[in-house]
Amino acid sequence: MTPDQLKNFIKDVPDFPKAGIVFKDIAPLLASAKARKAMTAAIVSNYKNQKIDVVVGIESRGFLFGMLLAEALEASFVMLRKSNKLPGDIEKFTYDLEYGTDTIEIQTDAIPNGSHVLLHDDVLATGGTAGAAVQLIEKIGGKVISANFIMELDFLEGRKQLGDLDIYSVLHY
Ligand code: AMP
Repeated sequence: MTPDQLKNFIKDVPDFPKAGIVFKDIAPLLASAKARKAMTAAIVSNYKNQKIDVVVGIESRGFLFGMLLAEALEASFVMLRKSNKLPGDIEKFTYDLEYGTDTIEIQTDAIPNGSHVLLHDDVLATGGTAGAAVQLIEKIGGKVISANFIMELDFLEGRKQLGDLDIYSVLHY
């Protein structure tokens, strides 16, 4: 399946969750076994010559393909979660939103020191979440070698938040 064909499995929902936002719904992509496989294959083929020890998925839609990627790449899978969801010793990172702040968390011992990490989420929008995720992973000793997204909203220039980190997005809008 080409990227253009895969775009048929992303549904635009105008004015959700608030006026002016076009929400990119991945439900049709999840519903189709064929599209899911094609999406996973596209991402895996991009990383097939790289050493990836750990895939970190961002809550919650980053868990879905994150786990499929970890399986295909024979890597560990680690959850990066919103506040107060993870038990035990955790490391947190608080970052600014348009109004207020948000906090993400990871278990302190989740990533062996120096591991090669692939960060995954469904959408790269402003890049605030992914930028915070990279800082948190590096704080606990992981080395983020690339960030991967199902899709990137190019007009929001989120990749600027990720400096010179390698980024692979399958679909671009
Ligand atoms: P950002 O921090 O602005 O890059 O936003 C990234 C997070 O918000 C991702 O975890 C996405 O799941 C979600 N997100 C942002 N914009 C959209 C959108 N237009 N459609 C669907 N999800 C979005």
